[in-house]
Amino acid sequence: MLHAALTTLKGIGKKKASYYERLGLKTIEDLLFHYPKRFEDRREVYHFSDVTDELRGTFHVYVLHVSSHRIKGNQTMVKIAVDDGSAKGDLVFMNAPFAEKRFESGRAYDVYGTAKRQGSRVTLFHPEVKGHNPDDPGFGIVPHYALTDGISQSDLRKTLTLCVDDLEAIMDPLPDEILKKYAFMTKAEAIKTLHFPKDEGVLKAARRRLIYEELFHLQMALLAIKSALKHQKKNYAYKRLSQDTLNSLFTFDLTQAQKRVLDEVFSDMDSDRLMNRLLQGDVGSGKTAVAIAATFKAVGSGYQVAVMAPTEILAKQHEEAFKKSLEGFASVALLSGQTKDKQGLYEAIQNGQVDVLVGTHALLQEGVAFKNLALVITDEQHRFGVRQRETLTEKGQYPTDVLVMSATPIPRTLSLILYGDLDISIIDQYPKGRQPIKTYHVPDRKKNDMYLFIKNKINQGEQVYFVAPLIEMSETLSLQSAQELYQELVPILGENHLALLHGQMKAKEKEAVMQAFKAGKIKALVATTVVEVGIDVPQATMMVITHAERFGLSQLHQLRGRVGRGTLQSYCFLLAEKPGQVAKQRIETLVKTQDGFEIADKDLEIRGPGEIIGTKQHGIPELKIADLSRHASVLMRVQMDAKALLADEAFTSCHKDYLVWLKSKMVI
Ligand code: ADP
Ligand code: MG
Repeated sequence: MLHAALTTLKGIGKKKASYYERLGLKTIEDLLFHYPKRFEDRREVYHFSDVTDELRGTFHVYVLHVSSHRIKGNQTMVKIAVDDGSAKGDLVFMNAPFAEKRFESGRAYDVYGTAKRQGSRVTLFHPEVKGHNPDDPGFGIVPHYALTDGISQSDLRKTLTLCVDDLEAIMDPLPDEILKKYAFMTKAEAIKTLHFPKDEGVLKAARRRLIYEELFHLQMALLAIKSALKHQKKNYAYKRLSQDTLNSLFTFDLTQAQKRVLDEVFSDMDSDRLMNRLLQGDVGSGKTAVAIAATFKAVGSGYQVAVMAPTEILAKQHEEAFKKSLEGFASVALLSGQTKDKQGLYEAIQNGQVDVLVGTHALLQEGVAFKNLALVITDEQHRFGVRQRETLTEKGQYPTDVLVMSATPIPRTLSLILYGDLDISIIDQYPKGRQPIKTYHVPDRKKNDMYLFIKNKINQGEQVYFVAPLIEMSETLSLQSAQELYQELVPILGENHLALLHGQMKAKEKEAVMQAFKAGKIKALVATTVVEVGIDVPQATMMVITHAERFGLSQLHQLRGRVGRGTLQSYCFLLAEKPGQVAKQRIETLVKTQDGFEIADKDLEIRGPGEIIGTKQHGIPELKIADLSRHASVLMRVQMDAKALLADEAFTSCHKDYLVWLKSKMVI
C-alpha cells in the first residue's frame, strides 16, 4: 500500500513516525521516493598490511579471541582479537556489552570502519559487522540518506527493506517510446536499485533513468504550456512599422543588438500567433528602449499596453521613461499601492483613456480591466511567476502578446528550464561610450583613501551609492546596519550630501529620496539593497558595497550594474574584511570580469542552480536527483525528445492523460 502511513510498518511507532515526518516522509511512497544523497562503495576488501596510518574500508577477518575488560569508572571495553591473513589486529567496542555476543572465536566476519595503525597492530573502533557469507561478501555499495535526529542510516535502510514489495505498485510515467529508445529500466526497478544497489553498472543505469525522467517531466510541462500559448491565434493585428519611425522616440541611436532584438519582437507582433518572448540583457544594456518601441507600435495601432515592474521605485522610473519617450503620443498612467483615486484610474483604463498602464503587482488586482489590451510587458521577470504573467494577460478581452524582460543573466541550460515556455532574445551589447567599471577589492587599511577619492569625485559633481550590509531575514537589522553606515559617513561626506533609503520607508518617502538623488541634490545614497533593482541614474559613478562577502555573485553583479550607465568612468568598491574561501572567489570573479553570462556560469558553479533562480519561487518542483549544472547534456537530449513527441499528433492524442497529469504535478 503506497499511501499507507509509515506507522503501518513493523517497528515504526508514533514517535519514530514523527521523526520521519520531520524529513517530510509520511507514507510508504514518501519513503521510497526519499532517494539516497550519496553512495559509499564498500566492495573492495583491504588488508591490515595496507594500513599505514589510517584507512577506511572493508576488512575480512577471523576471530582469534573475545575478551571483556572493565576500565576506569564503570566503563567496559570489549576487545576482539582478529587476524585478516596479512596481520593481526583488534576490534574495540566501548560500553557495548552486546558486542561480545556477536562474535565467536574461529569464525569469519566482514567488518567496515576506520582502521588505525598502532605499532605492529591495527585497531578498528566500533566497526560495522556482518557474518561472512562467501556468496555475498563485503558490504556492497551502500546508500547514504539525508537524516534527522532520531533516525540513523541503518534505521532508514532497515525500514526500506520492509517496503520493497510496495514498489511494484509504482506506475511508470515515462512514455513507452522513451523507455524503448533508451532501453530504460522501469521506474520501480530504478528506485529499488537506488536503495539496494547491486553493482555500479545497474546503479548508473538507474540514476540515468531517474535523472532523465525528472528533466523530461519538467521540460514537457513547460513545452506543453508553450505550445498551448503558441497555437493561440491573435484576435488583432498591429500596423506595420519600420524602425525609422522610431528615431523620434529616443535621444540616442539604438545599438545593433537593440535593433536585432526589436526586429524579433516586431516580427512576433506581426505574426498571427501570440508573442511569448523573453528579452534578456545585462543591466544597462537598454532593454527599456525595446519595450518602449514595442509599446509605440501597439498604441499606434490603437491598443493598450500593460507594463509590470517588481518594485514601486522601478515602476515609477518606467512611468517616467515611457512618458518621456511617448509624450504627446500616448497617455501613460501609474498604478501602485499608493495610487489615491484607484476607482477613477480603473475607469480610465476600462474606457481606454489610458494607453499605457505602468505599475507594480497592483496591476493584478481585481478592479483592473482593460478595454483593448494587446501587449503585456513584465520587467525583471525573475520576481514574477508564470502564473502572475498569465493573470495579467487575462485582464484584456482576449489573450495578449507577452514580452518578458530579465536582467539576470542565466546560464543557457537554466534558461531552457526556467523560460522553456518562452522564445529568447538577447541584447549582448552595451550602448556606445560605456567604459568598463573599474572594480576593486578594498582592504580595511585603504578605506580612508577610498573615502578621499569619493569626496573628490563628489566635488566634481559625481554621485555614489553605498550599499549597507545585507542582513538575511531581518529587515530591522538591515535598517540598523544602514543607519550605522550613514552615521559613519556623516563626518566624512557631510550630512547635506547624504540620504538614507531603506525598505521600511513609505513609498512616498522613498520616491522623494530617489528624485532628489536623480536631480543631483543628494550626492551619496546609503541604501539597503533596494537599489538592487533597475535604478537608472547616469551621474552615479561609484558603488560601494560594504560587507561584500555577504552577497551572492549575481547580486553583486546587479548592484554594480547601477553605475557605469553614462559616459563617465565608473567605479565599484567591494569592502570585505577576511572573506572566506567562497566569498573570495566571488570577489575575484567580479574584479576580473564584467560579462554577465560568465558571472552567471561561475555563480552556478559556486552555488548550484536552486539558489540562483529560486526555482521554488517559480513553482518549479525541486529536483530530487537531476542537477541542472551537471546534467546539461541530458537536458539537451530531453528537450529534443520532448519537442519531437509534442510535435507528433499520434503521441499527444493518445497521451492526453499524461499531459493532464503533468500539469497537475507542476504547479507552475
Ligand atoms: P536595462 O537594460 O538595465 O533596463 P535601461 O533600459 O535602463 O537598461 O538603459 C540604461 C541606460 O542606457 C538608460 O539611461 C538608457 O536611456 C540608456 N540607453 C539605452 N539604450 C541606449 C543607446 N542605444 N544609446 C545610448 N544610451 C542608451
Ligand atoms: Mg531595466
